[in-house]
Amino acid sequence: MMLGTPESRNFSPYKRMWVSFGDRELIPFTQRATEARKRLPSLKRLLASCRLCAWECEARRLRGDLGECGLDGRLYLSSTSLHHGEEPVISGERGSGTVFFTGCNLHCPFCQNFMFSKLHHGRPVTPKTLAAKMIRLAREGAHNINLVTPTPQIAPVLEALILAWDEGLDLPIIYNCGGYENVETLRLLDGLIDVYLPDLKYGSDDAGRLSGPKDHFTRSLAAIHEMKRQVGPLALDEEGVAKQGLIVRHLVLPGGLSDTDHVLQTISEQVGQDTAVSLMCQYFPIEPVSDHPALGRPLSAIEYGRAIKAMHHYGLTNGWMQKFRAPHTVRKWEPRKEM
Ligand code: SF4
Repeated sequence: MMLGTPESRNFSPYKRMWVSFGDRELIPFTQRATEARKRLPSLKRLLASCRLCAWECEARRLRGDLGECGLDGRLYLSSTSLHHGEEPVISGERGSGTVFFTGCNLHCPFCQNFMFSKLHHGRPVTPKTLAAKMIRLAREGAHNINLVTPTPQIAPVLEALILAWDEGLDLPIIYNCGGYENVETLRLLDGLIDVYLPDLKYGSDDAGRLSGPKDHFTRSLAAIHEMKRQVGPLALDEEGVAKQGLIVRHLVLPGGLSDTDHVLQTISEQVGQDTAVSLMCQYFPIEPVSDHPALGRPLSAIEYGRAIKAMHHYGLTNGWMQKFRAPHTVRKWEPRKEM
């Protein structure tokens, strides 16, 4: 769910990743619409008294109530674009067809995408409009369709995908999410998602309280296991672009707040040393946390260096680190736009 930095070359690979073929079979693109139509009623049932994400807060969103995510039952779109700032295997040469949804199911006070997640920049759209935008991204040369924070809106998003698949969309679908997922929802997406790109934000449930839930680490880890079961390790196409698999992102927070060492140990020992990991240092303080003793300052080069050492220590050699850049100043919140 994290935006990349302006250029994907800011990510440097740990080692060259080889062209390979996914070891889990996904549903062929030509059959996805048919299969997705069968699963849509179950997803809509999860939405009706909402249990789409791991909060399972049972908000009656279709009646207009708001869930923990602050969203009602409509589909809110923030923007679509060809994005060149993701990991090299996501952005490729031509860019990732990125779809930014409004809202988020987490309450990270330091959110780096706060314009979409907190200030709710965006507007309601129909699945038909979203499908047309996906087709347009494909025509513009996108390597994939990159759904950013899709979980709270996954039922209408699947409706949009059905329409797009009917039109012949045959690009990998990337599920780019914050990680606090309900496994029951993920199971309904089995075979329809090509690449899972979740965050593992914290190394313990205690650390995860910073983003709201009491069980953030436990539920995120369960979700990542399910994602890996569905798509397997990362596999690339002939252009070196992701066509299937799992990439776990982790943003290192200042002051050890993300418990990075345990995140990396867990990935290595429980998810697998073959897991592609994107270790990010792009943290910048935003206004609401400017007085926080740790979050109010940028990450230091020493802190990021420690995280890189831990990555090597735990044998995680697939993935990317970011070039450490001069610290950002505090970023101001922009005024809320009406949806
Ligand atoms: S998606 Fe939103 S409404 Fe649904 S369970 Fe999660 S927080 Fe609650």
